[in-house]
Amino acid sequence: MTPCHRPAVIRDPYPTARYDPWRDLATNWPEVAVRVIPLPGDLLGVLRYPSIALRAGTSAAQRRSTLAHEIVHLERGTQACGPGDAREEALVEAEAARRLVAAGDLARAIRELGNRAAVGAVAALLDVDTQLLRARLAGVTAAERTALEAVAGDGFTAA
Ligand SMILES: [Zn+2]
Repeated sequence: MTPCHRPAVIRDPYPTARYDPWRDLATNWPEVAVRVIPLPGDLLGVLRYPSIALRAGTSAAQRRSTLAHEIVHLERGTQACGPGDAREEALVEAEAARRLVAAGDLARAIRELGNRAAVGAVAALLDVDTQLLRARLAGVTAAERTALEAVAGDGFTAA
């Protein structure tokens, strides 16, 4: 476990207003600088405390999703994000997805677009990237699934 370099964050991670990672960063991590630069391979973001690099040429939704992911890493005391720990990466992505996609917003998007809408269309409506939306769908709780099934009608498939 990477040692934590900051006291535990004491705040509600699920405020009623829509989560804004840019505001979160400015409020809770003012020392962290974000740069949008070319990154090697297929990397969308790189955390090297106190710096976060976001891939140039990506959409605002991708940068928003990636920034939320890196903030969760920061909160967990990680100073460098990398592909080495798949379990940690999945946990961090799931938490970022829960913050960015409130259950009510997901239900509204499915109601608006229909149960068989492409993941990309739902992601675009929710202003997140498809990778993060897939993580959110994979992590729906039993209660959320029931609510989504009620909205989507027959055959809601969270996958
Ligand atoms: Zn990561």
